[in-house]
Amino acid sequence: MTLAPERVVNGVEQQRLLVTEIPGPLSRGLLARKQNAVSAGIGVGLPVFITKAAGGILIDVDGNSLIDLGSGIAVTTVGNANPEVVRGVQDQVANFTHTCFMVTPYESYVQVCEALNRLTPGDHEKRSALFNSGAEAVENAVKIARAYTKRQAVVVVEHGYHGRTNLTMGMTAKNMPYKQSFGPFAPEIYRVPVSYPYHDGPHTGPEVAAWATSRIDKELGAANVAAIVVEPILGEGGFIVPAPGYYKALADFANSHGIVFVADEIQSGFCRTGNWFASEFEGVVPDLITTAKGIAGGMPLAAVTGRAEIMDSVHAGGLGGTYGGNPVACAAALGSIRWMEENNANALAKEIEGVMLPRLLDMQVNHPGIGDIRGRGAMIAIELVKEGTRTPDPDRAAALNKYCHQHGVVTLTAGTYGNVFRFLPALTMPRHLLEEALTILEQAFEATAN
Ligand SMILES: *Cc1c(COP(=O)(O)O)cnc(C)c1O
Repeated sequence: MTLAPERVVNGVEQQRLLVTEIPGPLSRGLLARKQNAVSAGIGVGLPVFITKAAGGILIDVDGNSLIDLGSGIAVTTVGNANPEVVRGVQDQVANFTHTCFMVTPYESYVQVCEALNRLTPGDHEKRSALFNSGAEAVENAVKIARAYTKRQAVVVVEHGYHGRTNLTMGMTAKNMPYKQSFGPFAPEIYRVPVSYPYHDGPHTGPEVAAWATSRIDKELGAANVAAIVVEPILGEGGFIVPAPGYYKALADFANSHGIVFVADEIQSGFCRTGNWFASEFEGVVPDLITTAKGIAGGMPLAAVTGRAEIMDSVHAGGLGGTYGGNPVACAAALGSIRWMEENNANALAKEIEGVMLPRLLDMQVNHPGIGDIRGRGAMIAIELVKEGTRTPDPDRAAALNKYCHQHGVVTLTAGTYGNVFRFLPALTMPRHLLEEALTILEQAFEATAN
């Protein structure tokens, strides 16, 4: 497989085309209606209202075609409205839309669990349970770990992101916008250092892990810890790839103290990084793994997968939810997984990395504001700093973001300091569009240079 050279995907021309300013008049009208109808608490990054999308293109109500480097935050990894997903959803929705799996079950839920048990790291006996959102999966992983260990404490890391519910807000590191005004938070959540190679000076992965595990030992007592929950590559935190050995050392520590090691692969999973799961880069076999985002081509679905003895330690009826593992979402997941397997999705992600990294390294030569370039596969970011320092430069990130948006490239920022610019193209992104988006980014650097 190679990145599609396609010029038309699902009837959508694979070209960037701006016919109005961004946002155009129809989007501005809809934005005014949004402001009168939708809670101000729901922000939007780029207020162009979308009518159709495929390949690497989003089309808005004004007829503009934008290059999509966000994939709805790492969700439409198999491409928007992927034909395999569309077919599965259409067939299912015409047969039945809901029974509630806990009332009268259906096969597709079991098939998704079988696929998760097969695809996640480790060849031990596994079980899965399905939910609606990433946050719900993380909440359930904590419930399961507490039931299994009969312990309470949950350990998370600096810069981690786990969701917006009360428990997962507490587990999330960044205050603004996720936690501000929303406390009090759930108790028994403890945060330890993460390996952040760009800011750690000479410290190695195992050294930073030793600070973390010593904190657990001395401040909590390892025997009181139910779970350590970590993202193998930190998503909202700014695509931080911990130094080699850090993640493995935390997993080994958990293992030797009867702590359930939970990999939150909600953003990094499902072929995003060039492996099915990012834990594989470190050879780590998590006890539990949470998945969502890329799992079902845009339909809401999430899962917890893990060791049978842990997953089966919960009493019947202890897990679930009205909509969890909805049959339409399960059909989408099966279509999405089939597409990934048949199209060698991991090779596509590596190919995207192969196009992006050299271009970004070239840009860094002329634009020393690019302090760091990092990530794996189709999960790549740049960290922006004040020239000659490692001081975060969120204003530059915002200026670049604005330039890209105005020139028809949908980009996202990230990072605790808001100074990370992240790229999450779909694996169906045609190569010519990826190259064009990078050229616009280069122009954005020139236009925002001071
Ligand atoms: C997005 C995300 C979540 C939360 O998922 P939702 O579906 O938004 O609830 C949790 N963990 C990670 C790593 C994420 O990227």
